[in-house]
Amino acid sequence: MKITILGTAAATSMPLAFCNCTVCKKARLLGGKNFRKRASAVINDELLIDLGPDSVNACSMYGIDNGSIKYLLQTHSHSDHFDAGHFVTRMSAYAVKDLTHLSIICSAGTADDMNHMIKENEDIDLCSKKWMEDLNYDLRLIKHGDNIEVDGYKIIAIDSRHDTNIESMIYIIAQEDKYVLYGTDLLELTDEAWEILGRYKFDAVFFDQTYGAGYNAGGHLDADMVNEYVSRMKVSGMIGARTLVFATHISHEGNDIHEAMETMAAANGYHIAYDGMSIEI
Ligand SMILES: [Zn+2]
Ligand SMILES: [Zn+2]
Ligand SMILES: [Zn+2]
Repeated sequence: MKITILGTAAATSMPLAFCNCTVCKKARLLGGKNFRKRASAVINDELLIDLGPDSVNACSMYGIDNGSIKYLLQTHSHSDHFDAGHFVTRMSAYAVKDLTHLSIICSAGTADDMNHMIKENEDIDLCSKKWMEDLNYDLRLIKHGDNIEVDGYKIIAIDSRHDTNIESMIYIIAQEDKYVLYGTDLLELTDEAWEILGRYKFDAVFFDQTYGAGYNAGGHLDADMVNEYVSRMKVSGMIGARTLVFATHISHEGNDIHEAMETMAAANGYHIAYDGMSIEI
């Protein structure tokens, strides 16, 4: 399984527009891995996790053919994860040609919110058969605890507690005997979530590290929580010696430039993802 990381920033991007804090200033000077687009990822060049505002351009930058994307797995509908403007360009009115069928998988709350965002752009109803035909997609609603098969992929949905109004999810995505946890945006892992995770041994794990250590403005994990979760998964065998573990969805708040973050993370047994990173598991 190939995983390409299209973006690793929180809603705010990195560096944050207009911000002159030390981290944003250093990030602008250093560039490279310090330039972060809003979080999304692609599995096997065909399964997009979150159609965010930067996803389409990131695909072009990192050699992913947008025209070949077959599946869209949405964690939730916040504007850093779903860009309705990109979605509506699938309309025949945009003179789009030879659309690859898109299977959209998300919670009912997320679909409902995406529908509102879509309607602000075009008069499309996400749940209507007419539009499913015109934009060539189907919609599969998933809820916490569901374990579904989509072609060769197994997808397990876990409540992320990040936004309960829209039933935000993190996902376990499996193909053959490879298991990935894509864990952003994440407020906390509940006992129920731990029970589900405990059934698997992961080949790759991604956690939300919106905030640095000792700094949490809410809604997400911080570096201390990522450390705690990674340790717990190691002790219980969910993370083994060969598991690749990364933090993503990074904001300037309490975090640092990439190299400093990587040094701290490596000391705690994980790594910091960067835009354009590609791993094979
Ligand atoms: Zn986010
Ligand atoms: Zn800043
Ligand atoms: Zn969010």
